Amino acid sequence: MNFKSFLIKYAEIGVKGKNRFLFEDALVKQINHALKPLDGEFKVYKEVGRIYVDASDYEYEEVIDALQHVFGIVGICPVVQVEDLGVEELKKQLVSYMDEMYPDKNFTFKVNARRARKNYPLNSMEINAAMGEAILDAFPECHVDVHTPQILLNIEIRTIINIYSETITGPGGMPIGTAGKGMLLLSGGIDSPVAGYMTAKRGVNLEAVYFHTPPYTSERAKQKVMDLAKKVAAYTGPIKLHVVNFTDIQMEIFEHCPHEELTIIMKRYFYRMAEELAERNGCLALITGESIGQVSSQTMQSLGVINEVCKKIPVFRPLIAFDKQDIVDISEKIGTYEISIEPYEDCCTTFVAKHPVTKPNLNKIKSSEEKIGDQIQEMVKKAIENVEEIIISNKSVC
Ligand code: ATP
Ligand code: MG
Repeated sequence: MNFKSFLIKYAEIGVKGKNRFLFEDALVKQINHALKPLDGEFKVYKEVGRIYVDASDYEYEEVIDALQHVFGIVGICPVVQVEDLGVEELKKQLVSYMDEMYPDKNFTFKVNARRARKNYPLNSMEINAAMGEAILDAFPECHVDVHTPQILLNIEIRTIINIYSETITGPGGMPIGTAGKGMLLLSGGIDSPVAGYMTAKRGVNLEAVYFHTPPYTSERAKQKVMDLAKKVAAYTGPIKLHVVNFTDIQMEIFEHCPHEELTIIMKRYFYRMAEELAERNGCLALITGESIGQVSSQTMQSLGVINEVCKKIPVFRPLIAFDKQDIVDISEKIGTYEISIEPYEDCCTTFVAKHPVTKPNLNKIKSSEEKIGDQIQEMVKKAIENVEEIIISNKSVC
């Protein structure tokens, strides 16, 4: 069937009053954004508790895929809209809808009418009965099942009448733009893209920072991070990726600090610099892919010591209590897994010690850091001043 409209369903919990307008407006904006690159004509609009997308000259699969990337949408219903030409005409329209939608008539169904306009001659129960009967008359092989129907035929009597029976699941969450902006620490691994996706799902706009250590980490490793950002950007819209050259700082730490403390001290520098970049770019939190106990730098003690450098904004770790397999499942769903497992090295693996500390002591780490000397402050400053900014969108890298 060639649908001319889609009815967009969104969860209404927590979006009452003024928030509801903000939520709906943000959702309309994000839907427009998602559809913009596609072929076709689209009109997105809201109407008393409903959002519709009118579409023509479009590719069905492409539109569904785009809408499934818009946070805030819980269901996408391809809808047939008919004018109110009386009860008898509606029966005919429903019969032809069912005929076209379900060539095999051996189905069970239930009619679910809702009357938003009270001047319709039949009430909801009467519509259910009349339309159910018309369908049974037209297709004697089918049956009514009010408890577990295979097809739930929805009829909404509004100024216009909506007919729909399919709901394609959306990603859920809140539309991007309904919360603030966060700075994602994005590595080439499995976890951080998932952490970004999950935070964005709550409406948070993302920027990202990647600490690059050439020549120890290759251009291909950087490209991998860009490819991952692109996958996440399919949900968020364009992401500003800050690429920080971390080599001098890394070497300085390597030279002056005990090797079993390298990862912890390096992470403390990541956090310090990410916090600075967050502040400069209006981000309200850092976001990382850490999860308790995954590696030595993610024990409770290590996380505490790393976290200590963040004084101004909170660090969000949406995966903190996730098992690896749960993270992998999400990364497969959002299409980052295949990229994450590409074999390009990251700086953590290049500079990792054989026996890293698992229970670092904050005072000891601080005194190790003091051994580095003041030149590191200059290096940090220089790295931040020379940060490379790349705008990454799901369509192209600009
Ligand atoms: P991931 O799979 O996200 O790489 P991981 O399990 O490999 O995580 P770590 O390497 O300890 O864990 O990194 C923990 C977190 O620190 C990452 O999830 C990411 O948020 C951040 N991080 C690590 N390396 C970098 C990097 N080079 N640039 C930016 N952030 C990084
Ligand atoms: Mg990693």
